[in-house]
Amino acid sequence: MALAQLTIDLDAIRANWRALDRMSRATTGAVVKANAYGLGLKPVARALAAEGARSFFVALAEEGAALREVLGPGPAIHVFSGHMEGDAPLLRAHDLIPMINSPEQMQRHAAALAGHGFGLQLDTGMSRLGVAPDDWPDLRAALPGAPSLVMSHLACADAPGHPMNAAQRDRFAQMTGGLEAPRSLSATGGILLGPDYHFEMTRPGIGLYGGLPFAQAAPAVNLRVPVIQTRALNAADTVGYGATWSAGANTVIATISAGYADGFMRIAGPAAAAYHKGTRCPIRGRVSMDLIGVDVTGLAEPPAWLELICPQQSIDDLAEAAGTIGYEILTALGPRYARRYKGEIR
Ligand SMILES: *Cc1c(COP(=O)(O)O)cnc(C)c1O
Repeated sequence: MALAQLTIDLDAIRANWRALDRMSRATTGAVVKANAYGLGLKPVARALAAEGARSFFVALAEEGAALREVLGPGPAIHVFSGHMEGDAPLLRAHDLIPMINSPEQMQRHAAALAGHGFGLQLDTGMSRLGVAPDDWPDLRAALPGAPSLVMSHLACADAPGHPMNAAQRDRFAQMTGGLEAPRSLSATGGILLGPDYHFEMTRPGIGLYGGLPFAQAAPAVNLRVPVIQTRALNAADTVGYGATWSAGANTVIATISAGYADGFMRIAGPAAAAYHKGTRCPIRGRVSMDLIGVDVTGLAEPPAWLELICPQQSIDDLAEAAGTIGYEILTALGPRYARRYKGEIR
């Protein structure tokens, strides 16, 4: 079988949620947007619910509907994009909480779903989503009911010394002063900034899945890829498209069954590696759509498998090699990988 195996450790995800929950002065939610950061909505959400998570967050109403099917009635499901045109049937049928982002969304919600719960998202400086500070006083004075949660989002929480953090926290505290609703400001990075940032609810995502800025997180993914072919090269031989790498000496190249179509980014090739039982084996030549050449000259015998995500090469190591962030590595993990779940609840 040439399928690469992606193992997702649900016990690690549960342990990460527990660790962040212990750090949070607040109630700890869980962000499972984008198919739980690419790791699989159903198994991940079930594991988090079993660990005690009762408030979930997704980006889209459609994701909320899928999550409701997984979780059943009970847990709160919040939708960051709020109430978009056409969302009302999904919000109603699946008991989803839109995080209202503008006066227009508030009007739409009040008109289409009078009496249906809602939350509010305030823009405290990210200029992405949320009610703008200028719109807030009027909206606040005319709310059609009590919001179940009021949130905002930090732009620079992964940089603890950044002045935006305290500025956004203070603006959030000021904008929400006198409101009775529970408040939520912090994702993973904000939890690590300390209790001043926690308010009543936190919303970790990446830390659950083993990524920075939660440096103590347990790794949640392992990726092992079968070797399809091993070949002995002479000094004059080259590897891959464009013949960009020349052997220069006798070399053994293993061709493994993964490539950029699986989310292993071409640009990561030169700085990344594959690993055999902890031994680093450099990537040689360009990453192809389905194949990568790996230098296994140093191994005692040709391997049957090589690892691309393992203790020696984390998602953040790969991110650094690709000039990106762990979030993008996770959400790019390809659909072709055979996903296996450790600790799955059925
Ligand atoms: C994605 C997201 C989160 C989770 O952020 P992490 O950095 O992954 O912990 C929380 N809140 C909002 C609004 C988000 O978009």
